[in-house]
Amino acid sequence: MTNLKINLNERTLMTSKSRRRTGTDFHFRSDGIKIEGKETDMQECKECHKILPSTAFTTHTLRVDGAYILQKICRECHTLVYREQRDVRKKAPPKPDHCDCCHKKVEKLQIDHIHGSSTFRGWLCRNCNTGIGSVGDNLEGVLQAAVYLENDENKIIETLHKVFNEMFARTK
Ligand SMILES: [Zn+2]
Ligand SMILES: [Zn+2]
Repeated sequence: MTNLKINLNERTLMTSKSRRRTGTDFHFRSDGIKIEGKETDMQECKECHKILPSTAFTTHTLRVDGAYILQKICRECHTLVYREQRDVRKKAPPKPDHCDCCHKKVEKLQIDHIHGSSTFRGWLCRNCNTGIGSVGDNLEGVLQAAVYLENDENKIIETLHKVFNEMFARTK
């Protein structure tokens, strides 16, 4: 029942997102591919934060009118990240039957690594992976969310000890 609820929520979110993405602006790239937006449009790469022309990005998904939506990270970063992920995959330990973060039993686990390196960090469920990524993939972001949730330093520290001990007990 809980799963169904989550799926329904996701679907609503996706529909409203794609509805927002039905712009009318498009242009044809030199290779004849229909691309969203104007030829002069600039976009910030989510990875290197450089403001780059649309030609610096590869295509991602199709819009309703057949124009391609571009990737959020530039070609150069895309290649680097892809290479990192491939190297991490080679060295990764076998998949466990649970998520290394929330410890729930999940069939589909995603590989997680330390950004900008090929260091494996863990196997994560989709929720944990996107959640951690959404708050910046770092401790500061996670703690910022914690302070937002509980504006009480002692309570945060107390909970941290509890969570830490539980996680440590699992890995013993
Ligand atoms: Zn980039
Ligand atoms: Zn998880």
